[in-house]
Amino acid sequence: MVIILKQHPDETQLGSLMDWLKKQNIQVTPTVGAHQTILGLVGDTSSIDMDLISALDIVEDVKRVTEPYKKANRKFHPDDTVIEVGGTRIGGGSLTLIAGPCSVESEEQIVGIAKAVKASGATVLRGGAFKPRTSPYSFQGMKLEGIRLLLAAREATGLPICTEIMDASQLPLFEDIDILQVGARNMQNFTLLKELGKTKKPVLLKRGMACTYQDLLMSAEYVLAGGNPNVILCERGIRTFETYTRNTLDLACIPSLRQLTHLPIIIDPSHATGKSALVPSMCKAAVAAGADGLIVEVHNDPPHAKCDGAQSITPAAFDKLSGQLRAIKEVCGEDHRDVII
Ligand code: PEP
Ligand code: MN
Repeated sequence: MVIILKQHPDETQLGSLMDWLKKQNIQVTPTVGAHQTILGLVGDTSSIDMDLISALDIVEDVKRVTEPYKKANRKFHPDDTVIEVGGTRIGGGSLTLIAGPCSVESEEQIVGIAKAVKASGATVLRGGAFKPRTSPYSFQGMKLEGIRLLLAAREATGLPICTEIMDASQLPLFEDIDILQVGARNMQNFTLLKELGKTKKPVLLKRGMACTYQDLLMSAEYVLAGGNPNVILCERGIRTFETYTRNTLDLACIPSLRQLTHLPIIIDPSHATGKSALVPSMCKAAVAAGADGLIVEVHNDPPHAKCDGAQSITPAAFDKLSGQLRAIKEVCGEDHRDVII
């Protein structure tokens, strides 16, 4: 349930309402927006008389939220969530470019790529240290040494780091990492999500390859319900009958999720297509459709990459693309908010 308050509500009346709700065992989350203040109610609201609440002087409107995701719901939080990390803002119609290799391979590689993508406008560096591979015989990542090299790349460039955490037990190793990525295969690792909810670290939550928007939002809800408001959603392609591309990029998720949630929406065209030649077009389409940002695999030597070379673009290709994306963003401007009704 959400209670929409009138402007400048009487403080005493508001205090009594909040106290009364808490006595009913309802958790109340106030959201002060640019135009409205909203009280989001979580708990068993079935016994709450909507007419009684509507009749209060300070109340403009009361609505039931029928969707099972509450804190992730735009009805709870009409303004976009904007997450500040390492001097960059993600969400609210930003154009956050997260770029870097699939996996960290050496200091020279990660620092070199970090410098190149930064010069081309990337604001976050990506790179896997712990890799979730389909085959146990494939390269599993540099692990702790990979984390150390990512921090060296941050030191050299100032770029905040985004890297994947695969298990809740790894959390102490990620203390200095700026954005914790939850991979597609782990989107419904509820133990991990609950632990991330206890931190305040930004979480880049990737959509599972056979998961609906509602599934994705319910996973986000786990993190939000734990007390961590910093969730970024990421579409990285879903499994369909098409085999030409690695996955199928669901771009309709951008305007759809924009309506359903206030959380930032990032698109990953690399894992979605699996083919470097397709990545620039999909990046452009995603920006035109209002994505808050992209996460793109960039490698200095794609044919020799230890992981995902076929879908990695070169720093030169990223440089060209970045300029085009800024131009598209310029044209599409604030359109991303048009779909919110
Ligand atoms: C990755 O980002 O390198 C990765 C493994 O992504 P996903 O979980 O989307 O497959
Ligand atoms: Mn990858």
